[in-house]
Amino acid sequence: MEFSSKLLQNAVDEVSFLPGIGKRTALRLVLHLLNQDQEVTTDLAKALIDVKTKIKRCKNCSNISDQDICEICSNPKRDQSIICVVEDIRDVMAIENTEQYRGVYHILNGKINPIEGIGPNDLNISPLVEKVQQGKVNELIFALSSTMEGDTTNFYIYKQIEENKIKTSTIARGISVGDELEFADEVTLGRSITNRIPFENSLKN
Ligand SMILES: [Zn+2]
Repeated sequence: MEFSSKLLQNAVDEVSFLPGIGKRTALRLVLHLLNQDQEVTTDLAKALIDVKTKIKRCKNCSNISDQDICEICSNPKRDQSIICVVEDIRDVMAIENTEQYRGVYHILNGKINPIEGIGPNDLNISPLVEKVQQGKVNELIFALSSTMEGDTTNFYIYKQIEENKIKTSTIARGISVGDELEFADEVTLGRSITNRIPFENSLKN
């Protein structure tokens, strides 16, 4: 693609760096912005910079937050002794949308994936194990996607905390195998959290 302006080319290159955005779409977006008032671009740029510089990770669960401790963890109505283990923040959003869950979360920031070289130490696993060992947890709910990587991660964590004899459960697999949690519809997901099954039962399948 030939550009009459280096600045335009630079902007298109930056936008097309985003996932799912090709050069043509990037050009359309940049030209759109060029035709807007200055304020529109300034607000957009500021929002993006704020995302990177001001958003924090909750010190307790690793959820994205504007405070050191996120709104879910700091809510006295949430049951801190029930922890739902998820892969990333999109899973938290999906489960929150069901309005069926009153515990808290622990975000692993990924799944164990030997092929991609992601091991347990690359994930937010040890703080979770520590919480269990400190006796603060009554139940862990595994809500990772039902892929081989999800199962491996569940099993790894389960083995780490097995001797602590807390309740472990997994969301019922009404959600078809391989579906990411974020794509499950709210009713199905809500039901699968309410009707969660003991984790040991899922191992026998
Ligand atoms: Zn939190």
